[in-house]
Amino acid sequence: MNWDEARNAIHQACMRLEKEGLIAESSGNVSVRLSEVDGRELIAITPSGVPYRGLKAGQVLVIDFEKNVVDGEGLPSSETNTHFAAYRARADVQAVIHSHSPYASALAVAGHDIPPLLDEQVVGLGGGVLVAEFGLSGSDQLGANAVAAMGERQAVLLRSHGVLGVGRDLDEAMAVVGQVERVAKIYLLARLLGDVEPLPANIVEMEQKFYRMKHGFPVEG
Ligand code: 13P
Ligand code: ZN
Repeated sequence: MNWDEARNAIHQACMRLEKEGLIAESSGNVSVRLSEVDGRELIAITPSGVPYRGLKAGQVLVIDFEKNVVDGEGLPSSETNTHFAAYRARADVQAVIHSHSPYASALAVAGHDIPPLLDEQVVGLGGGVLVAEFGLSGSDQLGANAVAAMGERQAVLLRSHGVLGVGRDLDEAMAVVGQVERVAKIYLLARLLGDVEPLPANIVEMEQKFYRMKHGFPVEG
């Protein structure tokens, strides 16, 4: 993906995320990993504080891992450190989305992990979605806590804040944050009806094996 393709893809992703209610105003941010140039690792990332309704593809910035703006004008997202943390922790991560979707954020505010509830969730997200320890917006701590809680899964709830989702490409990261919101909604609705049973442990184990194989992670047994 060249820089312009990345800018357009991120712009389209933002339009869809806003339309689907997963981000609003200027909350949330989106990035993709770009090819290295002269050994310099680069990402394309949304600018900080620009409301999505007015966002132009040209405002998406290309930056290096020291936060130098390599192409474009303006300030990169204030959550750039958290995007870097995900890229540094996982070589398979090619795209990162931080969303503020309401049902998942409700669980993040309550400090409530989403257990593995649905087959498609384990296969798509890698299992339950845990709440990371609190980290201040924009801090290195937020990123460190997020990747620690995410491990080798695809998403994590950011305590009292929102969601972080990753993918092997931008489409996958989009599917991840959409799925986190759907499963959060299902979980909250199911809890209104009474006790909620997570999937049986042997089923989760089998599905996690499939997930790990799909992602090229080592699988035991
Ligand atoms: P930015 O506009 O700086 O990307 O910040 C939005 C956000 O969600 C902060 O957590
Ligand atoms: Zn945020």
